[in-house]
Amino acid sequence: MSNLGSNLDDLYREIILDHYRSPRNRGELESPPAIRVEGFNPLCGDEIVVYLDVEDGVLKNIKMLGSGCSISQSSASLMSAAVKGKSIDQVRATIAMFKQLMTVQESTLAHDGEAPKVDVRALGELAALQGVIKFPVRIKCATLSWNTLIQGLDELNPTD
Ligand code: ZN
Repeated sequence: MSNLGSNLDDLYREIILDHYRSPRNRGELESPPAIRVEGFNPLCGDEIVVYLDVEDGVLKNIKMLGSGCSISQSSASLMSAAVKGKSIDQVRATIAMFKQLMTVQESTLAHDGEAPKVDVRALGELAALQGVIKFPVRIKCATLSWNTLIQGLDELNPTD
């Protein structure tokens, strides 16, 4: 308990490992009616398949399959837990928040101890992935499932 910073790192590492070992919402949905989208990160070989069941503007269910590094797979699991059951507007807001987290650049990191611009409390467990930005090559791993989710949302037919 001597160093708050490293305790937080440990907590984040634990969350990431937990989601990697026990991925949430793993599986498939019948498609159609579910939207099925695939994502691939050639830099690392990460693959993800996302199934979305959207009804009345709400993401009723989300399932995914995938393989790859711990960052890509835990990010996918964290994402599924964060967006399941939310309205599409809320899902898009969560995506925007996560993207912001992944683009908090050196300016924030350079000033050690300075609070990031993103509201970490609003992110919940997603905050565990913020350490990824220290390793730019891993950002593509962390954002793969999110970009795939965006792709799926873009396939939604506008109903209004
Ligand atoms: Zn990866």
